[in-house]
Order: sequence, then C-alpha cells, then structure tokens
Amino acid sequence: MKNIPFNKPYLHGKELVYISNSVASGKISGDGKYTKYVHEFINKRYGFKKPLLTTSCTDALEMCAILLNISPGDEVIVPSYTFVSTANAFVLRGAKIIFADSSSINPNIDSNLIESLITKRTKAIVIVHYAGVACDIDPILEIAKKFNLYLIEDAAQAIDSYYNGKVLGSFGIFSAFSFHETKNIICGEGGLFVSNSTEHDARAEIIREKGTNRSSFFRGEVNKYGWVDIGSSFLPSDINAAYLYAQLENIDVIQSKRVLLHNRYYKNLLELQSKEFLKLPIIPPYATNNAHMFYIICRSLDERTALTNYLKSKGIFAVFHYVTLHNSAYFKDKHDERILINAENYSNQLLRLPIFYELNLEDVDFISQCIYDFFKLI
Ligand SMILES: *Cc1c(COP(=O)(O)O)cnc(C)c1O
Repeated sequence: MKNIPFNKPYLHGKELVYISNSVASGKISGDGKYTKYVHEFINKRYGFKKPLLTTSCTDALEMCAILLNISPGDEVIVPSYTFVSTANAFVLRGAKIIFADSSSINPNIDSNLIESLITKRTKAIVIVHYAGVACDIDPILEIAKKFNLYLIEDAAQAIDSYYNGKVLGSFGIFSAFSFHETKNIICGEGGLFVSNSTEHDARAEIIREKGTNRSSFFRGEVNKYGWVDIGSSFLPSDINAAYLYAQLENIDVIQSKRVLLHNRYYKNLLELQSKEFLKLPIIPPYATNNAHMFYIICRSLDERTALTNYLKSKGIFAVFHYVTLHNSAYFKDKHDERILINAENYSNQLLRLPIFYELNLEDVDFISQCIYDFFKLI
C-alpha cells in the first residue's frame, strides 16, 4: 500500500555541506557566517532593510509585541482561524485579544469586520496571510491609518508571495515568517523578524540578544556590552542558518515545484467542485500563490471525517486544522458572545492535502483519484 505522508522535510542541495562548514568554522552559535548570508539574501531578494533571523516565527511575533510595548489594558485584533502563536505572543504581554472572523472567500481575516471591533483601547491588528495568499491589505491599511493602529503581518506561511506586486511582509510595521519544517522553506525550527520602521531597528537587535547591546559591541560601536532593555534569546544557531541558506539558494526551484503540484490538484479536482461535492481554494486577483498549502472545503464535518478516514485507508495522510482560537480550551471563557461563523466552518470543513517538495505529479493524481472514488461511494 502507498504511504504518502502529509509533509516531509527534505534536503534540497547543500544543506549538509553548509552545516559541516559551519561547524568547521569554529562558530555555531547565533549570528555567524550563514546567518549573515541569509540576511543578505533576504535583503537582496525582498528589499527588507534589516531582516533578523529568529528561533521561530513565534519568537519573531513575541519580538513584535515587546517592541510595541503591548501591555495589560491593550486590545489586539487577531483572526480566530490561525495558529496559537499569532495570539499568544500578545497574550504574553498582557493584551486582551479580540478575535475576528474569516472572510467567506478564504480563511483570511474579513477586512469588512475589523472596524466594528475597534475600541479606544485597540492598539494593533495582526493579520495572517493564510496559505501564503495575501489578505485584503489596502482596506486594512486604511483602517489602521484612520484609527492610528499598528499593523503586524503574521507571514509565517507567506514567504515569496505578493499583494499587487508588493512582497508580503512589507506592509505592516513588523512582520514574522516561519521556516518550520512544515513551511515552504525550512530549517527545522526557525523564523524571521522583519521591521519596516527603521526607528525600531536598534531595539529589535537588543531584544533579540537577551536585552543586551551585544550586536553594537561586535560592530565596535560601544566598548563593552551589557543589559540595556528587556529581551530574550531569539537568535538561532548558525547550524540552522546553514540549512536554511541552502534552501534559500534553491527557492525558485522549490516554489515552482510546489506550484506545479498545487495546479495539478486544482485541475484534477475542478470537476468535483462543479458538481458541488467540495470547494477549491480561491486566490483573489491581487494575490499570488506561493503554494504553501493545498486545501479543499468539504460540505460538512462528517463528510470531512469520512474522507480523511477513507484517504488514510489508502495510505494518504490529509490533515485538518485549526481549532478556532476563540473556542480553544484556553480562551473560550474569555471570548465575548460573538459567533465567528466563517472561522468555525473552516475549522470543521477544511482539509489539507499532502504537498511537499518530494511529492510528484503521479502522487497528486493518485490522491485526486482516491477523492473521486470516495465521492462515487457516497
Ligand atoms: C507555522 C505558523 C506559526 C508558527 O511558526 P513557528 O516558526 O513554528 O513558530 C505562526 N503562525 C502561523 C500562521 C503559522 O502557520
């Protein structure tokens, strides 16, 4: 029987060579040679002025919350249909989270609802570019400007993706990317903090380096370094950066393979959509597709469960996510009464199909055929 995992980490090229080089260089702690290469690569390709590699996207989001001095009493608007870190980073600073519903078109935040959630305590809006597909950014930027709120992009899934030709991660005051092994470009655990506001550069460096001015010391700007602010250990080992750099060097090949697989799924399953058995992802005209994910929307929770089990019986591992955060064990007693119907529907009906670099078109055809077979049986 086939065994098609949901995700599989992979070596694309020189990962192991660069890791050995890093070890041989005698420095494998943070901000070594490969971290520098990664920063230069990101700067050149995306124009981010001072990207900072972090231990995870979660940590990059925590840096955002610290930098904005989020504190008890502040409200932060966050989509409910997202990974816990999007909210947790702000909860850790004492913020009250106001959860927003998703759009009916795709799981991104519904930009039409945001204004109604703003109070005089609102300090920031966090958006998530779900599946690497851009949110409806222009109206959100307008709201942020009108009410003088910070915009933060959780771009964990959004590497190398664009909104009207402008790269994701460049719209908010800060943004955060992930290189977790389930993302497009990986290093096991890793992330990236991006600032689009130079006035925060110095403090970002300090927060990432345990609250010390160690980075300016190494540049020779101060003659000793010490404790100057709050902070934590947010910089990754150069071993992770070495793995990551090898992946980034091959980013175009990796992305185009994913898009190839994504498009094949889409084409294969189109007929099931026209017969209304399921819905396929919608990518608005302003957004590019970085093929982070391929998902289908089932007609009900029961049907999704049955399909997931059927695929498993064929050796195919499809997965669902997220338990909406407003309904989570941690938050449900803190949520107001609002029903976030689109988020709840995605939570019950969305199913993610396997997509990873080493998957091939024959696998996609096999998985698609199994989905057709399932609908023939019901
Ligand atoms: C993966 C993910 C994260 C967390 O990324 P880590 O690098 O694992 O911390 C945060 N937000 C979203 C939307 C994600 O998909």
